Amino acid sequence: MPQKKANKIKYLYAFGKQTDGSARDRELLGGKGANLAEMARIGLPVPPGFTLTTDVCSHYYAQAHQYPRGLEKEVQAQIKKVEAQTDKRFGDVANPLLVSVRSGARESMPGMMDTILNLGLNDKTVEGLAVRTQNPRFAYDAYRRFIQMYGDVVLGVRPRNEREEDPFDQLLEQLKSTEGVSSDSGLSTEALKRLILSYKKLVKERTKKAFPQDVYTQLWGAIGAVFISWNNERARLYRQKYNIPADWGTAVNVQAMVFGNMGNTSATGVAFTRNPANGAHELYGEYLINAQGEDVVAGVRTPSPIQDMKHGMPDTYASIEKVAKKLEAHFKDMQDFEFTVEAGKLYMLQTRSGKRTGLAAVRIATSMVKSRLISEKEALKRIPADSIGSLLVPVFDAESRRHAKRIAKGLPAGPGAASGVVVFSAHVAEKLAAQGEKVILCRRETSPEDLRGMMAAEGILTLLGGVSSHAALVARQMGKVCIAGAGSLSIDYEKGQLITGDLVLNEGDAISIDGNTGDVFLGSLKTAPSEVTRVLSGLLKPEKSDVFQLFNTVMGWADKTRRLKVRTNVDTPDQAQQAVSLGAEGIGLCRTEHMFFEGERITIMRQMILAADAKEREASLKQLLPLQRKDFAGIFRAMGGRPVTIRLLDPPLHEFLPKDDASRKELAQVLGVTPGVIAERVRSLEENNPMLGHRGCRLGITYPEITQMQVQAIFEAAAQVMLAKKSVPVLVEIMVPLVAFSKELDHQVAIIRSTAESVMQRKKVNIQYSVGTMVEVPRAALDAESIAHTAEFFSFGTNDLTQTGLGMSRDDSSSFLSRYRDIEIVDQNPFATLDQSGVGQLVEFACERGRRGRKALKLGICGEHGGDPESIKFFNNIGLDYVSCSPLRIPIARLAAAQAVLNN
Ligand code: ADP
Ligand code: MG
Ligand code: MG
Repeated sequence: MPQKKANKIKYLYAFGKQTDGSARDRELLGGKGANLAEMARIGLPVPPGFTLTTDVCSHYYAQAHQYPRGLEKEVQAQIKKVEAQTDKRFGDVANPLLVSVRSGARESMPGMMDTILNLGLNDKTVEGLAVRTQNPRFAYDAYRRFIQMYGDVVLGVRPRNEREEDPFDQLLEQLKSTEGVSSDSGLSTEALKRLILSYKKLVKERTKKAFPQDVYTQLWGAIGAVFISWNNERARLYRQKYNIPADWGTAVNVQAMVFGNMGNTSATGVAFTRNPANGAHELYGEYLINAQGEDVVAGVRTPSPIQDMKHGMPDTYASIEKVAKKLEAHFKDMQDFEFTVEAGKLYMLQTRSGKRTGLAAVRIATSMVKSRLISEKEALKRIPADSIGSLLVPVFDAESRRHAKRIAKGLPAGPGAASGVVVFSAHVAEKLAAQGEKVILCRRETSPEDLRGMMAAEGILTLLGGVSSHAALVARQMGKVCIAGAGSLSIDYEKGQLITGDLVLNEGDAISIDGNTGDVFLGSLKTAPSEVTRVLSGLLKPEKSDVFQLFNTVMGWADKTRRLKVRTNVDTPDQAQQAVSLGAEGIGLCRTEHMFFEGERITIMRQMILAADAKEREASLKQLLPLQRKDFAGIFRAMGGRPVTIRLLDPPLHEFLPKDDASRKELAQVLGVTPGVIAERVRSLEENNPMLGHRGCRLGITYPEITQMQVQAIFEAAAQVMLAKKSVPVLVEIMVPLVAFSKELDHQVAIIRSTAESVMQRKKVNIQYSVGTMVEVPRAALDAESIAHTAEFFSFGTNDLTQTGLGMSRDDSSSFLSRYRDIEIVDQNPFATLDQSGVGQLVEFACERGRRGRKALKLGICGEHGGDPESIKFFNNIGLDYVSCSPLRIPIARLAAAQAVLNN
């Protein structure tokens, strides 16, 4: 019977004259191997070689560090092919072939493992190389480098503790001092020969074995070291951090060496096909003459900008330009490539898509669409949604940043750059700002009481809290720069000092904070508002800013593509106007409580809260009514007929009351009562667990007159705007917070509708409005069907829904959440990126049940997650109508919503 031949797995892929793989084989060949193959395919000058696939790696681990049977023969056969192409022989004394052994996983994992260069040198072949190249110094230098690299990576000859220097470097330094030379290149051939002897002695001492002279032993040692390195601690940590599965494995590339260190017509370097900082269409990179690859990275010599090559090596520069063009035309993306020039001839050693800033991403994508390299859709996918935000925030002048002294680092919580003088209270912040001073408000943490100070400040710095703390949340909404959780600083409120180590800053000293990086600097750094912001606020003509044109183009593509509407979370007419200029299609959340902190209102508000009875309360509410009405009118005008969702009063009342003795005394004076009365009332309102206490619709149910006043203010404002001479249309959506039972909503809606009807009758105007609820406790999600009988819309308050769904207070979670992330109990901060399999399920369930209760139910989300690209993808996929986010995140959300459609 004829034996059926088993389907043989292909373990080795050649590249060079004959190339087996291509860019599509990334999984099998790793990123580096796949792209080496692809470059060889399109005729670029790649030194020949072959790739051992990730399947070999899997086999190696599954079979107790054994290689697949027959692999040895196959490797020999591949080496023969390389020999034929290079006209050299591996291990040959007269004309030796040298190779590099390079790791390469599916995703690049920088620094996971060192590359081994010059493999194939031994005591004999080094002599052959010296004669053949007529350059003994080059040959012996290559050999000593090889022993050092191989000794370190394969044989484990390394420092034995943290204090010890690299043992090879120690020997090198000793030699340099006895020879009286300062640089490596000053060593003579004879000196290098002596160094090689001492290196070999070191290896023998440490490993109890002589340095391997057999070239195949060397090769297998290097291949094994690459596979082993896949599971070293560094690599494992890296994989954990970036979610790379362990079973991917790494490939190994064995490639003929080319030499950039053969004299002054040789060089090595790295370059980008475009400028990765600003996206300009120009070669960008650096190179070193007479050097080997690792010299560029190691920083022993300072490389020259690649533009210098135009003069130094004009022909080579021209070839590199040509190659860059070809790379882009083929890979259709900006490439980051490594090259070596051997005696005037250019070789390509690596290429991959280059990392870039937000601005560069936008410029490159639009320019590639223009030159028809990629489609608009492809361009949209190429720009990380978050990165578009970097076009909107003010920036520190690069030069002044470089010279600045950094005094602390916190979490980058509100993007942008700000400098100003240090102040420690909202009160002083306001006072100094009114005098025209730029201030940075520094607080251990912030509370609603600090709001006015935060508005007055250029930036906010807190010592506690995370990227979703009160300070961060409010700062982002206001578009303020914010650093949260700068824990290495301390504040002495008594003395008015900000302290770090032995540096003490007093009120009035200048600092600068970079909300993009979390860096806190001493002194005032120069800033500049972004160009896009200047155009949007009318300070710069659109046609004067090419950055704005790019921004606008990308936003246009995004708007054509997305399905989700994008609204905004704002509380004031100014913010509303800014949001509209950034593309807001409505307000998804207008928090009315912030309005009560402005100017004299807080006192009236406090009066209302401290009222002895309903009658007194109504008197204060009457005073608040015109103030609220004015705010709402401003917002309606700014929104010009776009939907405006107004949430009724939400926070517990004690948040509005003064917390320290001095301000209690002040308030007592104004109200004509004793401080004791106030203290008593504050105490009576205090709660054990305010997050779950007397707040949200619970307030409106116990104090219906508050709901009544707010609704009256809203409708009177709407009437005013619509009936004005320059009439503006108004679309009102009233949102009842924290509903758990449908009857809570019924109760509030009755008040809302009757108040609305009476205003409309009185003003003889018909105002288009709807009433809905914020879904922010699990019970509301579960009972969504019956709630939807009354609610015309749901807006998911995912901040509270996450808190109540997880039973986890956002402001108390920093003590354990970082640990949770370290040991991967959670992948992401659930307050920043929606917990899809938990809270997300509640949202999905509520949508489905809600629609059962009301077919035309409108669905949106107004938590912080509304500006988070990954969460937006989820909201798109479950069919919400809109997301709502802070103004500066609107462009990010527009882009993310488009990407959600494209990636679906
Ligand atoms: P990494 O993944 O850390 O960038 P590489 O495998 O790309 O490591 O190798 C680092 C450098 O070593 C390359 O940029 C190149 O300069 C040099 N190198 C690697 N292989 C060769 C080769 N065959 N000939 C010459 N230099 C090489
Ligand atoms: Mg590389
Ligand atoms: Mg809430």
